[in-house]
Amino acid sequence: MMKKIVILGGGVGGTVVANQVARAMTTEMKSGAIAVTVITESTQHIYQPMFLYLAFDRVVPAEAKKPERELLDRHIKIVTGIADRIDPESKQVRMTDGTAVPYDYLVIATGSRPAPEQVAGLSEGGHMFYTEESALKLRQALHDFHGGRIVITVGVPHKCPVAPLEFTFMVQEWAQSQGIADQTEIVYTYPIGRLHSLEPVAQWAEPVFAARHIEPHIFFNPELVDPVKKTITSLEGEVLDYDLLVAIPPHMGQDVIGRSGLGDAGQWIPTHRTSLQMEGSEDVFVLGDATNLPISKAGSTAHFEADVVASNLVNLLQGGLGSMRYDGKVFCFIETGLTKATYITFDYVHPPKPTEPTEMIHMFKLAYNRLYWLTPAGLL
Ligand SMILES: Cc1cc2nc3c(=O)[nH]c(=O)nc-3n(C[C@H](O)[C@H](O)[C@H](O)COP(=O)(O)OP(=O)(O)OC[C@H]3O[C@@H](n4cnc5c(N)ncnc54)[C@H](O)[C@@H]3O)c2cc1C
Repeated sequence: MMKKIVILGGGVGGTVVANQVARAMTTEMKSGAIAVTVITESTQHIYQPMFLYLAFDRVVPAEAKKPERELLDRHIKIVTGIADRIDPESKQVRMTDGTAVPYDYLVIATGSRPAPEQVAGLSEGGHMFYTEESALKLRQALHDFHGGRIVITVGVPHKCPVAPLEFTFMVQEWAQSQGIADQTEIVYTYPIGRLHSLEPVAQWAEPVFAARHIEPHIFFNPELVDPVKKTITSLEGEVLDYDLLVAIPPHMGQDVIGRSGLGDAGQWIPTHRTSLQMEGSEDVFVLGDATNLPISKAGSTAHFEADVVASNLVNLLQGGLGSMRYDGKVFCFIETGLTKATYITFDYVHPPKPTEPTEMIHMFKLAYNRLYWLTPAGLL
C-alpha cells in the first residue's frame, strides 16, 4: 500500500522536509511505494529576509522569490491552493476548492502571519517590512524622508527575533549615509523591561544604543496609533510622537490552524519540544513558525527542525522508531548597520553570545542571501 506524506506549506521548513524525504526515498517514490505532496497557496517560494533589504532599496522584489517547482525534487507533487481545514480524524487536508488531500503522515509548516490589526490604527499610521507590499511602501517612505523622528515599535510574538534591532541599526546608518543624521532622531520601543527578549542580546545592544544615540523606551506594548496626530500610545499609557512609524507587528499562526481547532489563542499549534509531533498525535509533525514552542520563530529554526522531522519520517517509513530529537537550535545573523554584522547561535540549553560585529560576517550574510536558493533544493 502506498504511504502518503503530505507537507502543508511550501516555505522554508516544508520545502526542506519534502526534499530531504524525497532524496532519501527516491527509489520508493519511483516504485509508487511512497508519495510526497507539498500543499502551498502560492506557486512562488518567498525568501522573507530579503524584505529587510528591500525596504532600504538594496534589492528588488524578484530577488526574494522563485517558483516552488524549481526548488522541489521532481518526484514531489505540488498541490497549489489554500488549505481550509486539517482533519486529523479522517487524516486529510480539506482545500477551499472542495477537494481533499489524504495523508498517512502530515507535516504542518504553515508559518505565521503579521497581525497589525491587533494594534488599532497601526495599518493606517505605521509602516512595516514583513511582506513584499509593506516593504515597498516603507522603501518609498524612507526615500521621501528628509529628517524627523523615526519610531520603531515592536509587538509580540513576532518572527525573526533580531529584526527589530537590525532595522534600528540599519536605519541609523542609513540616515548617516543620506546626510540627514543630524536632523533625525531614532526611537526604539520594546514590550518588556530590556532591549531584547534574549537577555545576552539585550545586554550586548545597550552600549550600542548609547553610542549611537538611539532612544530606548522599554515596557512599551503598542496599543493605539493615531495616524492624524502621529502618535503611538502603549498599553502602559506612554504616548510618543513620530514622523515615521515602523512596526514589527505582533504575529499569529495561520487561520487554517484556527479553523481546524488545532491551535491556542494565537493559532500556534501545541507541539512536543523535541519530537516535534503535534501534541496528542503520532502522525502529525509541526515545524517552523507554526509551533507554540518557546523558541525564536526564524528560518534557521524551521531548517534545523526540518532536518529532524525528515530523518524521523524516513526512519519511520523504513520501520524504525523515529527517535531523532530537536535540541532547540537557532542561528541568526544580526546586521548591525549597513556594513557590519554579528551572529548568534543558541538552543534550549545554551544561551546566545553575540560577538564583535565584522564586515566579514556582513559579507557572509549577503552571500547567504544568494546561497539560500541552494539550501531548500537540498544541495547544501
Ligand atoms: C523581514 C524578515 C526578515 C527575516 N529575517 C530572518 C533571518 O535573517 N534569519 C532567519 O532565520 N529568519 C528570518 N526571518 C523569519 C523567517 O522568514 C521565518 O521564520 C521562516 O520563513 C519560517 O519558515 P516556515 O517554514 O515556518 O514558514 P514560511 O516560510 O512562512 O512558509 C509558510 C508556507 O505555508 C504556506 N501556507 C500558509 N497557510 C497556508 C494555507 N492555508 N494553505 C496552503 N498553504 C499555506 C505559505 O504559502 C508558505 O508557503 C525573517 C522574516 C522576515 C519577514
